[in-house]
Amino acid sequence: MSVIIGLEIHLQVTSSKTKLFCSCSADYRNSPPNRNVCPICLGLPGVLPKPNRYVIEKAVQLALALGSKISDRLVFMRKHYFYPDLPKGYQISQYTMGRYSAVAYGGSLEIFVKGRRKIVRIRRINIEEDPAKIIYPEKDPWKSPYTLIDYNRSGIPLLEIATEPDLSDAEEAVSFVEKLLELADHLNITDPSLEGSFRIDANISIEGGERVEVKNIGSLKDLEKAINYEIIRQKRILETGGKVVRETRHWDDIRGVTVSARHKEFEEEYKYMPEPDIPPLEIDHSYIEKIRSLMPELPWVMRERFIKQYGLTDYEAGVLVSRKWLAKYFEDIARIYNKPDKIADLLINDFLGKINERGGRFDLVRARPEQIAELLDLLDKKVISIKILKEILDKIVFDGEDPKKIISEKGLTVISEDEYLEELAEKVIRENPKAVEDVKKNPKAINYLVGQVMKLTRGRADPEKINVIIRRKLGLLR
Ligand code: ADP
Ligand code: ZN
Ligand code: MG
Repeated sequence: MSVIIGLEIHLQVTSSKTKLFCSCSADYRNSPPNRNVCPICLGLPGVLPKPNRYVIEKAVQLALALGSKISDRLVFMRKHYFYPDLPKGYQISQYTMGRYSAVAYGGSLEIFVKGRRKIVRIRRINIEEDPAKIIYPEKDPWKSPYTLIDYNRSGIPLLEIATEPDLSDAEEAVSFVEKLLELADHLNITDPSLEGSFRIDANISIEGGERVEVKNIGSLKDLEKAINYEIIRQKRILETGGKVVRETRHWDDIRGVTVSARHKEFEEEYKYMPEPDIPPLEIDHSYIEKIRSLMPELPWVMRERFIKQYGLTDYEAGVLVSRKWLAKYFEDIARIYNKPDKIADLLINDFLGKINERGGRFDLVRARPEQIAELLDLLDKKVISIKILKEILDKIVFDGEDPKKIISEKGLTVISEDEYLEELAEKVIRENPKAVEDVKKNPKAINYLVGQVMKLTRGRADPEKINVIIRRKLGLLR
């Protein structure tokens, strides 16, 4: 029984300063509730929506990057449904049922899963507005005594990307969304680390059966869980002689199950009609060519370049390019410090872990590229060990403290590690004459002295190395 999956991904254009049809601030995450609102995004009667040019430009960029065919004219439509997050009673969207007047049709994105390349075809790209945010104080709607609505999110610009049903399991679906988010990040459309910046509807069917649309998936983890849950549910129905019905289900991320959305408001009877307040927009050739000429380097091109220019492995280049910020940071460091493999190693194995502990938030990084370069330089010169580097990395990365300053504050004077250990060994020998005598009688007694030096370094040094230094100083080695 083979599985067929098609995705509809909603990306917030988080780089847009304003909403889709009004000039309200789009920064809804950092504003008190219901502050960024006006008659347009509150859906009051008699107002005129004005489409945001920047968002159209971003949609065209995404279409160009995916190789989609851009429509000659954009038509906005009213999509009707009744729900409290939608004050107008309709959402301004584009016609998504046919092949008419959305931003673009066709195109593809390549993914790499289980050692194989796979082309995933794009069906359509369209623009629409985000509804308001509904907040259940108890998280579970049925347990909440009341519901709150924040209209700051009403009218936030979204790009919707629908794929053809080319995916065949959760791993491929996750890989596709990761790839799309990477592209959206490089095009400065969506910052994937922002909470709620993307949502996914997954259409899942088992060959020959009806498809089920699972709505409201908010993370890659939930996407994986929802698809696997739905596959098992459908297989069970088939195995017990039942039939899967075509329906919309909701992903309940608290309980980890999909639930049938029986309510009228989720049925696909949207009664589309052209939005009479927004005339169709002509997209001419020269406009498209102008946008094409301003396109940034695409992530897959950048990845190849990183491999060639910096001699990185495919894996290293892939990780560094996975976020635009990280790729730029890497290149900024590489301009000052010319061992790209060491930079890649530090960023991938130590630095990224720290960022991921903080939810992937690169905006928290305070360390300038020069400071990372300096840190690597101190490591090269053996002023610090890799162990010390790992200890102080946090302070350097998130407090922007100077590597040299921390090292001296922590009593790790800026001298070579060898010199430092020599000094400590001398001090221990000087202060423990009795133990030194013991070593001369019984070589094993040296462990006490090594232990004392280790203690002074707070366990940071290599005991083998200290052992050699002490033996040399006691004339037991030449
Ligand atoms: P519709 O007009 O039928 O709603 P859309 O263009 O909105 O179609 O596409 C809905 C999504 O369903 C697309 O991502 C598509 O790939 C997917 N889809 C279509 N057929 C199937 C199927 N048999 N199994 C799984 N997904 C499918
Ligand atoms: Zn507004
Ligand atoms: Mg649909």
